[in-house]
Amino acid sequence: MQVNHLKHSLSEHYLTILRDETTNSDEFRKAANKISILLLAEATKEILTTDKEITTPLVPFVGKEVAKESVAIPVLRAGLGLLDGIINLMPNLSVGYIGIQRNEETSHPEDYYCKLPDLNNKNIFVLEPMLATGGSLSFAVSQIKKAGGTDISALCIVSAPEGIERLEKEHPDITLYTAAIDVSLNKDWYIVPGLGDMGDRLFGTI
Ligand code: URA
Repeated sequence: MQVNHLKHSLSEHYLTILRDETTNSDEFRKAANKISILLLAEATKEILTTDKEITTPLVPFVGKEVAKESVAIPVLRAGLGLLDGIINLMPNLSVGYIGIQRNEETSHPEDYYCKLPDLNNKNIFVLEPMLATGGSLSFAVSQIKKAGGTDISALCIVSAPEGIERLEKEHPDITLYTAAIDVSLNKDWYIVPGLGDMGDRLFGTI
């Protein structure tokens, strides 16, 4: 698996706002939105384009356009914090949603909601801001592959080494873009130093 650790001063600036426990939900959402744009810019730096013939007000010109359609798939609910930025930046985008929970009896992940557009021959961006154990993201990627997705990038804000290792093992063919690689998980499976519960901080729940 290709792991891209985003090195960008603006990303570090907004990540510090996210990590700060005094940041309120409003500012937290804005900072997550900004980082999502930086992550997508990195993930699409060399995305396939084709020539497009246009005419400027002065002369004919051969420009570029993104060759394939794209799909963003936020993993509910924290992934929603990255969605607006992706919608604003990415042309020809459709959006799928996937909600994952742990089955109480088997303790395996399962989806409680899954609505995906056509994934065939699309650039796919899975949005999962906190890559902790990797269980949810790995399951989401498996579902996306079953539905026909092939060209898959995962956009994460903070990743734990444990989650990266699991993804590497289970989905070596995807590409991971992450704004931070943190130290470890604690006994409650939170990323340390991390930023706390992403969903709660985005949506003001406790
Ligand atoms: N999910 C979160 O929201 N935070 C963590 O630290 C780990 C998983």
